[in-house]
Amino acid sequence: MTDILKHITEKLHDVTEANFEGANIVLYTNNEKFFKEGESRIKEIVDELKKRIELRADQKILPSQEKTKAEIERIIPSEAEITNIIFDFHRSIVIIEAKKPGMVIGKQGSILDQIKKTTLWTPHVQRSPAIKSKITESIREVLYANNNYRRKFLNEIGEKIYKEWNPEKVEEWVRLTFLGGARQVGRSCLLLQTPNSKVLIDCGIDVASSGKEKFPYFDIPEFDIRELDAVIISHAHLDHAGLLPYLYKMGFKGPTYMTHPTMDIASLLALDFIGVAYKQAAAPLFSSKDIKEMVKHTICLNFNEVTDIAPDIRITFYNSGHALGSAMVHFNIGNGLHNFLYSGDYKYARTRLLDPAVSSFPRIESVLTEATYGSKMDILPPRIESEEKMIEIINKTIERGGKVLIPELGLGRAQETMLIVEDAMKTGKLKKIPVYIDGMIWDINAIHTAYPDFLSNYVRTSVFQDRNPFVSETFSRVGSPQERRNVVEGGPCVVLATSGMLVGGASVEYLKEFAESSKNSIIFVCYQGVGSLGRQIQEGLTETTMNVNGMEERVKINLEVHTIPGLSAHAGRNEIMSFFNNMRPKPKRIMINHGEVSKCLDLASALYKINRVETSVPRILETVRLR
Ligand SMILES: [Zn+2]
Repeated sequence: MTDILKHITEKLHDVTEANFEGANIVLYTNNEKFFKEGESRIKEIVDELKKRIELRADQKILPSQEKTKAEIERIIPSEAEITNIIFDFHRSIVIIEAKKPGMVIGKQGSILDQIKKTTLWTPHVQRSPAIKSKITESIREVLYANNNYRRKFLNEIGEKIYKEWNPEKVEEWVRLTFLGGARQVGRSCLLLQTPNSKVLIDCGIDVASSGKEKFPYFDIPEFDIRELDAVIISHAHLDHAGLLPYLYKMGFKGPTYMTHPTMDIASLLALDFIGVAYKQAAAPLFSSKDIKEMVKHTICLNFNEVTDIAPDIRITFYNSGHALGSAMVHFNIGNGLHNFLYSGDYKYARTRLLDPAVSSFPRIESVLTEATYGSKMDILPPRIESEEKMIEIINKTIERGGKVLIPELGLGRAQETMLIVEDAMKTGKLKKIPVYIDGMIWDINAIHTAYPDFLSNYVRTSVFQDRNPFVSETFSRVGSPQERRNVVEGGPCVVLATSGMLVGGASVEYLKEFAESSKNSIIFVCYQGVGSLGRQIQEGLTETTMNVNGMEERVKINLEVHTIPGLSAHAGRNEIMSFFNNMRPKPKRIMINHGEVSKCLDLASALYKINRVETSVPRILETVRLR
């Protein structure tokens, strides 16, 4: 047994079993009295060790599942609308899914406490989403079906984390290697190394590139998948998470840390990625089996939850305001020896969908920031202006009998656009016209409604009050080729479709149909990768070859092309500058990645001038010694 568990069981004689669930310690007891009243003893040990410890009842003293179910239904008020009760026997946990989780929890957890004390099972509460999400359901199924595997897996993770549990041990160095995403956007991937640990930060694919350029450099000597302790994913976009299932295909068996919504969305995007590959008659990089492996090995964390992921590395996710569940990752390395912040992608402004990124942290020595809109030319216009411009373009196009295509990343901006359009129709700024949603946006809407706690205050309240904007009758879902045909042949409308850069997906199908008529408009609201069809059209492409009904055909681009940068999910130059201006505490070093090279260099010199700290723009494959 690991020292820390021995230490605990020697102090608490009523504990019959002690093990890990990741970094958390779980104790089991067959003494009913101790289970009900032992809280203060547990708290003493928590204070001493500064670790999360949970006490559960031993399987031997648990009442039957039928009896417990009846008891739970008796205790919880019917207004909570329970949709499912699931038992995790191996962990003495009962999962209660309900439409109103707050009513299951009770004031300060009073109802949960009552359930725990009467049934001895440990209750966990989950929200049943307002829109049924197949992906969220199947992920939960994968996890339930693999309960026993998960229990062993999480215990092994804990054993590794606490293996050399020695708070006094001093670290000598910390290094960060850029495997991808340096001086470029796409394939974000970093290797963080200490004498004790190797951690991969993000695992992205560059969908706009081809050949080897798509992938991070996994073929370098210091990267060995067998030596990897953990992977951390900042958010679900393909350029940050798209290759994660591939790691599991290559034999990775360790844990990946991310937020709950990121896990659901990353799984959905990965499944879609397989689908797109088939449509392009290419062999997919991984299968749904590998996505399942990813889910089985994922440990979900909430924002602001401090967690050990290795003997010498502790991480905390902070809201980054970029997409549902997107996080900045704070690393506390070597018990405070070095604190490093990985910004991931972030937005330092309030949007309709999300709150702005967090900018104060416990401690920080070094930061790696994104620079998608990092140059001095990238001052984003105010949101309100951008929203008005979008409404104006839509109105003008509709008046002349045209259709509007808005290519969207499935995650993030499509929901933002929906909120803008819904509001404009409600307030009469926009005529009531059909708004069609195609591609996987609908599924991602469902995931948004499953995690209202990650949304902005306004949207969260709307969801809680049954005014869920994503199920508004303004929006119609396009699900079949026939329905798509109807949209193409029908009258003026707005179409929101993935992919955002016109690289495969429904948006390309609509472009083929809309491109030749100058009555129509296309509005770009998200970043267009170098080389993508979206970028080419943005830069004035007048003709392209597209596959129409299996035949290569020349298609003229006559439709009106608009770009609205002010709705970007990324921080503009002014936001990046004010993020560092407001950041507490001040870092000693700022590194820049995730941006075209000129933007990164421009941002580096501006940040240096104002903050007078070391700034650098590492190249791909470069290793930086953080300490
Ligand atoms: Zn992103």
